[in-house]
Amino acid sequence: MVLDNLSTSLKNSLKKITSALFVDERTIDELVKDIQRALLAADVNVQLVFNLTSKIKERFKEEKPTKEQPKREFLIHIVYEELTNLLGGEKEEIRVQQKKPFKIMLVGLFGSGKTSLVGKLANYYKKRNYKVATIGLDVHRPAAPQQLKILSDQAQVQCFIDEKEKDPIKIYKKFEQQYKNYDILIVDTAGRDALLQELIDEIESLNKIIQPDERLLIIPAELGQTAQKQAEQFHKSCEITGVVVTKMDGTAKAGGALSACAISGAKIKFIATGEKLNDLETFNPPNFVSRLLGMGDLEALLEKAKEAISEEKSKDMEKRLLKGEFNLVDLYEQMQAMSKMGSLSKLMELVPGMSQLKLPKDVLDVHEDKLKHWKECMNSMTKKELEDPEILEGSRIRRISLGSGVPASEIRDLLKQYRLAKKMMSSIKGKDPEKLMRKFKGRIPGM
Ligand code: GDP
Ligand code: MG
Repeated sequence: MVLDNLSTSLKNSLKKITSALFVDERTIDELVKDIQRALLAADVNVQLVFNLTSKIKERFKEEKPTKEQPKREFLIHIVYEELTNLLGGEKEEIRVQQKKPFKIMLVGLFGSGKTSLVGKLANYYKKRNYKVATIGLDVHRPAAPQQLKILSDQAQVQCFIDEKEKDPIKIYKKFEQQYKNYDILIVDTAGRDALLQELIDEIESLNKIIQPDERLLIIPAELGQTAQKQAEQFHKSCEITGVVVTKMDGTAKAGGALSACAISGAKIKFIATGEKLNDLETFNPPNFVSRLLGMGDLEALLEKAKEAISEEKSKDMEKRLLKGEFNLVDLYEQMQAMSKMGSLSKLMELVPGMSQLKLPKDVLDVHEDKLKHWKECMNSMTKKELEDPEILEGSRIRRISLGSGVPASEIRDLLKQYRLAKKMMSSIKGKDPEKLMRKFKGRIPGM
């Protein structure tokens, strides 16, 4: 997709959130820094970036998540909304009116992609069953009429050109009788190197005669944040109704161009993502941002995180762990949560003190089956046994094994696991809790 780099870095920063055990101030600070880095690399204006990130922080502080919404989901939602706003908010599509014809005129500087876009739009609307015609009013570039003719042929739509005529108004008038036979007329115009008075005058006189329903400014994405100035100038002098950002495929600056157009107040209606006729998309900021953030994947991740550990549960467990209170139910819950989150051994690396213990890998990689057995035998234990597993000796183990149908050897495994975990926990007991907490709130890698 377009904006690959931006997409990858944003996705990575959000993944960190979905897999963070806790969402606290530090998590947010890091996320905000990640987002800033990603947006600046996409050439988004510094001020816009800072506004966006302080908004994220402010909203997270002041707004409250709904009861069912875990904090990390709430945070991601805010990020999503603010990025959507950065790119223009809600979708504003072109509504083709039932008049013959509905006129769309394209304006912009040399090489911005106007003529190509006439072809793309013709193809787009033709596929949606509109009867489309194009007209070439670029009298400055000798090859422009031919280029338009070729593209219109490819899109299989009518094309009006006159290669000899040097007055665009005359060309327009020449075919005027025929336009009523079409649903949509797409008008190609001439560019200039810059928005000179000459170009403004030309567009003004075309506006007067043609009275287009849509006047679209074509902006190449490689302009990055400097697109803002151009969009504002065109907005002021040519009454544009929207923008199309082209060449989204060829630059890392597209994020800058999109946000710059959005801030200029001009609505982005389409984006062009390549040289082929089909490389055109309507621009829908919410959907665009969803894709950018990989929201589909993200939702799945969030689901998983939600299943694995509830925020209160993990807070509560954290407290007891730090006090050195640790029983079999804790062990079971922790194992269960972690096995849902991913590789257990990877996760255990993050638990303080674990790496020093050098546990064999198979002790850590507890499988679902084993967890199931543990749960079964724990159901056969008394409350006292669960809270103080050290009292479990031969006869109790036999009783539990009989009651649960779980072999005594597996119950001993469970105890072994418990002692290891307990040892690990007591080895960290009494250390600086601040430091420990920070470590414990580490992220889970490999997700
Ligand atoms: P105009 O001067 O504004 O009419 O611009 P053109 O339509 O002639 O386009 C200028 C050049 O940019 C041509 O070589 C096009 O093939 C190329 N171009 C236009 N749009 C895109 C796009 O979305 N992606 C890429 N990669 N190239 C494009
Ligand atoms: Mg052209």
